[in-house]
Amino acid sequence: MLDDNIRKFSDKVWLSSPTMHGPELKYMTEAYETNWMSTVGKNIDEVERMTCEQTGCKYAVALSAGTAALHMAVKLAGIKPGDKVFCSDMTFDATVNPVRYEGGEPVFIDTEYDTWNMDPVALEQAFRMYPEVKAVVVAHLYGTPGKINEIKKICDQHGAVIIEDAAESLGASYQGVQTGTFGTYGVISFNGNKIITGSAGGALLTNDKKAADKVRKWSTQARENAPWYQHEELGYNYRMSNVIAGVVRGQYPYLQEHISQKRAIYERYKEGFKDLPVSMNPYDADKSEPNFWLSCLLINNEAMCRQVRGEREALYVSEQGKSCPTEILETLAKYNAEGRPIWKPMHMQPIYRMNGFITREGSGRAGTNAYISGGELGEDGKPYDVGMDIFHRGLCLPSDNKMTEQQQEQIIQIVRSCFD
Ligand SMILES: *Cc1c(COP(=O)(O)O)cnc(C)c1O
Repeated sequence: MLDDNIRKFSDKVWLSSPTMHGPELKYMTEAYETNWMSTVGKNIDEVERMTCEQTGCKYAVALSAGTAALHMAVKLAGIKPGDKVFCSDMTFDATVNPVRYEGGEPVFIDTEYDTWNMDPVALEQAFRMYPEVKAVVVAHLYGTPGKINEIKKICDQHGAVIIEDAAESLGASYQGVQTGTFGTYGVISFNGNKIITGSAGGALLTNDKKAADKVRKWSTQARENAPWYQHEELGYNYRMSNVIAGVVRGQYPYLQEHISQKRAIYERYKEGFKDLPVSMNPYDADKSEPNFWLSCLLINNEAMCRQVRGEREALYVSEQGKSCPTEILETLAKYNAEGRPIWKPMHMQPIYRMNGFITREGSGRAGTNAYISGGELGEDGKPYDVGMDIFHRGLCLPSDNKMTEQQQEQIIQIVRSCFD
C-alpha cells in the first residue's frame, strides 16, 4: 500500500499536453494584424520551410491534420477500391482509416518486441501471401523508430510504396536519417498531444515535386488554373490555417528541448523501475534515436496478475507482488495522474475484425479480447500475437514534459506500490 505521504496531485499530471513558449502567440498575432487569417500566409510558408529543414525532405505541404496528410498519401499511392494495403497493426486508427477512405483494404502486420513496431519478418510473410500488394503504411509508435531500413528493403524488392506515419516521431531518427523521410510519402502531425503542436495540423513530406504539387492542388478543392472555379478532379479542404501555422512556427525551435525533456523522463522511469519485474518500451540504441514522446511500461509475464478486458470494461484480481495495466492506470487516476493503455491493435478492433492479420507464422487468429494473462496461449506456449501481448501487459505512463522531477518521483512510487 501507499505511503501516507503520497498525496493526490493538486494539478493533474498529464500523459502529454501542449507546452507553449511565447513565440506562438507572436506569430498568431502577426497573422491577425496582417489579416492573413486564411490558408495562405507567411506562417504556412515558414512551417513548410522548417519542416524540410528539420526532416531533410525536399517538399513539405502543411495540412489541417496528420490524418489529412495520410489521406493524401494514400491517394498519391494510387490505392483503388479493393486494393489490399499492408498496415501497422499496433497503432492509432488514424494510420489506417485513410486506406478505407479510398476503398482500400488494410491487412495488418504483427508487431515485433524489439521496437514495438511493424515486424519485418511478418511483412515478408505477408508478401509471400499477397505478392500483389503495392503499398505499405508503417508507423513509428510512441516516437520510437521501427526497423524502417529493413522494411524499406523488403518493400523495394516487391515494388511497394511506403507511406510512413511519423505523426508521433517527429525529430526521431534511424541510422542518422529522420523518420518521415524513408517512405515515398511521409506524414507528421501537430495535434495537441504530439511532441510539438499547432493545436491541430499536419504535413505531408516527399522528395517528389509532382506529388507535392498534387497535394497542394487536391487540398485546396482541386481548383484548376482558370478564371472561375474549374474542377477536373475531386478536391478537399485540407490546407493548414495561417493562424495554426503561427503556433507550429513558434514551437519548432523548441523541438530539441522537448525531446531532451522527454528523454530525461524516460531515463528517470527506467532507473526508478530497474528492480521491478517490468521493462520500458525498447529501442535499438545503436541504430535509432527516438524522440521519447511517450514512456511506456511492459510488465513481465510472471508478474502479471489476472486481468481480463471486454470491449468496454476491464477487470483484474489484485495479487501480492504482481500487477497489471488496469490496476496501475486506475491507481494513477486515483492520484490525479493520466496514463493510458497501449494503443489497442487494429486486428482486435471491432471495425477491422474481418480484415487480414499476418504474424511471423502466417495468417493470425482473429482478434479477441477475452485474453487472460497466464491463460490463453498458443501451442508453443507463446501468446497468439505480439500486438495483443503488448496491449495486454503494457501501458503508457504520464510523459508530460512539464511534469516536475518531484512529481515523477511520486508517479514512480505510485507504480511501485502496485507491485507491493
Ligand atoms: C496523431 C496520430 C495521427 C493523426 O494525426 P492528426 O494530426 O491527429 O490527424 C496518425 N497516426 C498516428 C500514429 C498518430 O499518433
